[in-house]
Amino acid sequence: MEITVIGAGLAGVEAAHQITRMGGRAVLFEMRPGVVTPAHRTSLLAELVCSNSLKSLDLQNAHGLLKEELRRMGSVIMEAADGTAIPGGKALVVDRDRFAARLTEMTGNNPGIRLVREEARRITEEGIVIVATGPLTSDALSGELRELTGEDSLFFFDAISPIVDAASIDYDKAFHASRYMKGEEGDYLNCPLTREEYDLFHEALVKAERVDLREFEKTSYFEGCLPVEVLAERGRKTLAFGPMKPVGLTDPRDGKRPYAVVQLRKENASGTMLNLVGFQTKMKYPEQDRVFRMIPALKDAVFLRYGSIHRNTYINAPLCLNEKLELKADRRILFAGQITGVEGYMESTAMGLAAGISAFMSATGREFHPPPSSTCIGALIRYLTTGNRNFQPMNINFGLIEGYSKKNKEATVETALREIEEWKNSFELEK
Ligand SMILES: Cc1cc2nc3c(=O)[nH]c(=O)nc-3n(C[C@H](O)[C@H](O)[C@H](O)COP(=O)(O)OP(=O)(O)OC[C@H]3O[C@@H](n4cnc5c(N)ncnc54)[C@H](O)[C@@H]3O)c2cc1C
Repeated sequence: MEITVIGAGLAGVEAAHQITRMGGRAVLFEMRPGVVTPAHRTSLLAELVCSNSLKSLDLQNAHGLLKEELRRMGSVIMEAADGTAIPGGKALVVDRDRFAARLTEMTGNNPGIRLVREEARRITEEGIVIVATGPLTSDALSGELRELTGEDSLFFFDAISPIVDAASIDYDKAFHASRYMKGEEGDYLNCPLTREEYDLFHEALVKAERVDLREFEKTSYFEGCLPVEVLAERGRKTLAFGPMKPVGLTDPRDGKRPYAVVQLRKENASGTMLNLVGFQTKMKYPEQDRVFRMIPALKDAVFLRYGSIHRNTYINAPLCLNEKLELKADRRILFAGQITGVEGYMESTAMGLAAGISAFMSATGREFHPPPSSTCIGALIRYLTTGNRNFQPMNINFGLIEGYSKKNKEATVETALREIEEWKNSFELEK
């Protein structure tokens, strides 16, 4: 039986090759060059739409660890990346044309993969299908996905706020409270600012350097998710009446209402990651470090994820997907890549790898269990498929990995690599 994979980007190519590695066959649909996206420039498979850096190679960095897990899993994307790498210091930087050309060639030469250069406008009614159409899924298929997942479960924009490591916050300069003491006492961690601190912060926000918007992104801000610096530009007090309003909050240390607050909300159940509520931004990453550290409680904050806003098609994975990356409403349909709600080249590759293995196991009547969440791949799947009230796309970071604390980074890395090998052996032995 052929498994259908829609979209020959990083995730779709990885999924198709994993299916054939396991002994199966795949038909891989790619709409380019017949139908184009606003970001792709070539007809090559697995084209990198922006940076040619696949981020850190350092194993003490979660991006480096994820890459090593993928390498050990026999990822075809990693094989091509390693084979087309150019000097990039601690990062894995590739020659983008050679990288995509190599993957196009490897896919064309794989006898188990049938490449069809056609837009999939609908999902076939039979057989196992992996949807890997990425952040710029075609309009026709988006319409079909909206019907399958429900009107409110398909999103077209990321408006993500930064996330900081809870261990890096100065708790002497913050207090736990919900507005008017509603909800659990510990729901929010509030970082107060005096009027002087607020004024300096406001000025820095307005002047900070920003990422340029691409033409197709310009029309697209919703009023509800404006970048924080755009709100700041509207006037000195706009933020103090908006996301930084101190209404209903009393600082227990002096019994007074602060001039302004930044509220932090738990991003994971263990509370090791905290999200700056309402702080979506287009500021450049180093500017986010500089400006957000002007908030007194965040002076030494470690950013696990930076804020951003961009065009992105993704589903509400915790609502829609099970841990096999199958659609709960129709389990023969799986999702892979950025459309699942992970963010980034390697994270998308990882979800392609897992979905390919899961689909093959389902096709052959076997039970797929994801890797443990002490691995990067398992932690990403857990993030996607467990309850999250306010689901937002996520890149890999140590905060997601079960058992991680700053003091045991080396042990976390060792465990992840050992467990990914064990996971691989668990189903490879069955073959
Ligand atoms: C403008 C922009 C800039 C980005 N910059 C970065 C960056 O610098 N670093 C980073 O890590 N990530 C970046 N990303 C995210 C990055 O694009 C993704 O992480 C990664 O490409 C996702 O891989 P994917 O396989 O899920 O999707 P893609 O790589 O986009 O692949 C999806 C494929 O599906 C095809 N397709 C879509 N609809 C259909 C259909 N109906 N039928 C058939 N084929 C279809 C597309 O043509 C495409 O080839 C950026 C995203 C965008 C939009």
